Amino acid sequence: MKKTIIISLLMLAAVASPAQTCPDSNHPHAIDLGLPSGTKWACCNMGASSPEDYGSLFAFGEMEEKEIYDYRTYYLRNVRFQYETIVDRSDVAYVKWGQEWHIPSPDQFNELKDNCTSEWKVVKGVNGRVFKGKNGNSVFLPAAGKAIAINNESKNKLGNYWTNREHWESDKAFYFFFSNSSTGQFDGLKFLGLSIRPIKRK
Ligand SMILES: [Zn+2]
Repeated sequence: MKKTIIISLLMLAAVASPAQTCPDSNHPHAIDLGLPSGTKWACCNMGASSPEDYGSLFAFGEMEEKEIYDYRTYYLRNVRFQYETIVDRSDVAYVKWGQEWHIPSPDQFNELKDNCTSEWKVVKGVNGRVFKGKNGNSVFLPAAGKAIAINNESKNKLGNYWTNREHWESDKAFYFFFSNSSTGQFDGLKFLGLSIRPIKRK
């Protein structure tokens, strides 16, 4: 009898909280949020060892984190990408995590925003936003801020994530932004150091 009750409780717990994100600590995992396109989102940022870890900041199209993020240290100044889009060998997710992973397009960020609830949350002392899909699965995006020169004054306040798309003004690219009160897409100078959250296309 006692055994039956325990098993029932375990089953209830499983129904009440379906696998939220990671099955184990071997990150990154591809999280199915039930999005219409079938796109899956990584559980953590590039350079992060866990979902609540800030991870690395990258200038647009660059492959490595660095000390100073400004125009002089930006290796790709005056570079235009084919179709104004980062792909394959110029995509740090593809290069470092493997061919299945990509920097999200602006449309993929829109799909995330339009098909998930989004809530400002503190996870293990780190501020960020949880995006929860209709299937109950979720990803946490930490507010890792934005590196300008050697400063990052918006760390733990704002999230700034590169898309794979350049702006028509050659020194800018589009990024996904969030605070504790809003989300949106903007254009920013490419030399700034922002987060990257890779996706897997279906
Ligand atoms: Zn994971």
